[in-house]
Amino acid sequence: MKEIAKLLPGFNCGECGFKNCREFARALLKGEDLDLCPYLGQEKHLAEREEIEETLPRLKQKVRDREGRAGEEGEAEGEIRGVIDGLAADFALAPLPGEPSCREDIHPFDRDAEFEVGDVLRYRPLGCPVTHFGKIIKIDHGLVTVHMVGPRHLLGDENFAPVDAGVCLVAAFEGIVSRGRIPEVGETVSFLPEHCMMQKVHSGMIVHSEGKMVRIESIDLKVW
Ligand code: SF4
Repeated sequence: MKEIAKLLPGFNCGECGFKNCREFARALLKGEDLDLCPYLGQEKHLAEREEIEETLPRLKQKVRDREGRAGEEGEAEGEIRGVIDGLAADFALAPLPGEPSCREDIHPFDRDAEFEVGDVLRYRPLGCPVTHFGKIIKIDHGLVTVHMVGPRHLLGDENFAPVDAGVCLVAAFEGIVSRGRIPEVGETVSFLPEHCMMQKVHSGMIVHSEGKMVRIESIDLKVW
């Protein structure tokens, strides 16, 4: 999916009917029509469009093969599994209504780093090999709440100037349960954040559960 997402325009405008380009990339793998993104018809995006058209058949086959294997291994319909680890999760976590990604609360270890609400942080979550980019929406007693924004400089955004925060502890996630079961407060759960680039199952403790909205703390990537 990453391979396709990075070829999309990256405006995350929702005109295709999906929340952002990543969601649209996921839908393309399931057979959605490329023409839903109006920008891919513009001349400046034609090279990327052609590359998507060339790449999609191979990736769709990969998804079919993986689903076939999961079926042989006994994966039940509707079961949620991480892509990189193949582990089952209790639920998938989607953004709160109207938000671009799940909320992540992070704690930077660098005490000298200076930033404020509105800044974009570049950081690597402790335990995760992937560099993240998160726009700060709140700072509260050392916890910094961010929305994922992706590496916009790779998409040609010249105004993208992230602040380097080094390694950060990811302390909490907030979002809505999009698939799977609604957990109860106090439960230790495994979950799949929809924005996770590795599609890796995370674990944590439910501290708030209201309708489909949940807050998960004590985040850990070690799940087995
Ligand atoms: S795929 Fe196109 S229409 Fe959809 S969010 Fe991205 S830029 Fe917007």
